[in-house]
Amino acid sequence: MKKHNYSAGPCILPQEVFEKSAQAILDFNQSGLSILEISHRSKDFVAVMEEARALVLELLGLEGKGYQALFLHGGASLEFLMVPYNLMKVNGKAAYLDTGTWASGAIKEAKHFGETLVVASSKSENYNHIPKEYTIPSDADYFHCTSNNTIFGTQMKSFPTTKIPMICDMSSDIFSRVLDFTQFDLIYAGAQKNMGPAGATLVVVKEDILGKTGRDIPNMLNYQQHIDKESMYNTPPVFPIYVSLLTLQWLKNLGGIAAIEKINNQKATLLYSEIDRNPYFKGTAAVEDRSNMNATFLLVDETHKDVFDAMWKEAGISGLNGHRSVGGYRASMYNALPLESVQVLVDVMQAFEQKMNS
Ligand SMILES: *Cc1c(COP(=O)(O)O)cnc(C)c1O
Repeated sequence: MKKHNYSAGPCILPQEVFEKSAQAILDFNQSGLSILEISHRSKDFVAVMEEARALVLELLGLEGKGYQALFLHGGASLEFLMVPYNLMKVNGKAAYLDTGTWASGAIKEAKHFGETLVVASSKSENYNHIPKEYTIPSDADYFHCTSNNTIFGTQMKSFPTTKIPMICDMSSDIFSRVLDFTQFDLIYAGAQKNMGPAGATLVVVKEDILGKTGRDIPNMLNYQQHIDKESMYNTPPVFPIYVSLLTLQWLKNLGGIAAIEKINNQKATLLYSEIDRNPYFKGTAAVEDRSNMNATFLLVDETHKDVFDAMWKEAGISGLNGHRSVGGYRASMYNALPLESVQVLVDVMQAFEQKMNS
């Protein structure tokens, strides 16, 4: 039986995407060939790449606005260094908002390239909120932020305005909510949180911010090279891109980001209401910054852990354990997780309450 999968990543994808991608492994487009054994330069795969790149821009509302979508290798972690390599001037500086483990990973990599200014950090409070009072220096080459902090369960509900390019790691909430995506000059996301399987990384970049650093950039790490080669500078991650395309098509058929946002809001409201109501649980993140993707919570009395763990496992729930740096539980409610799965978790929390009360 299919589990209620709360994994933080790689994560649940729509069931129809699993079925269609399994079929494409056996026989892709009735070609008599598996998608795993065809050339990435074949007509069939070039069509996949073109549609995936176009659909990304369409869903984000960025068509015809000077943006390019790329599917690269290396995960969001490689973007931590590709961003400064391509955007930080020689002897330049960049501004970063430190909101969690991934943001601080990005900061660490940027330090290899130049002066890295942390405009604000919530580290001293174990990243339980998003700092809001800070100024972005207008002479920095760019400002970098992380829209959703997968580990700590916080999410930026609004973004600062700045004249310098704004770069955002959206790995764990891309395509989950309506935003004005034109406020960003570069967005990146590992596919495996909300778009597809591990192995592909999405980069959406406004082309006119490139080529201004004076750096000599190796081809594989050069966004402009990947744009010029239409995201096929070398063999791209063919299968993860195909599965990402199927997920994007699923999202479009559902009504796009606005439609999934409504469902994501329902899921988050259902779970957070229960966390707040149920006297045996408490949330870890500041209420106004709570993530709609990753809800982090604790048992008020940790000695009941074994009882609660047995109950949710019995209910067919998987992947609910919290990250080691927060402890407790983390319910990741990405796009493909059905509302019914959240109801199952809420029912277990209520059954646990009754058990404790009796
Ligand atoms: C998971 C995650 C990453 C790291 O992604 P990789 O693809 O494993 O390199 C970076 N940023 C955020 C916000 C994440 O959730």
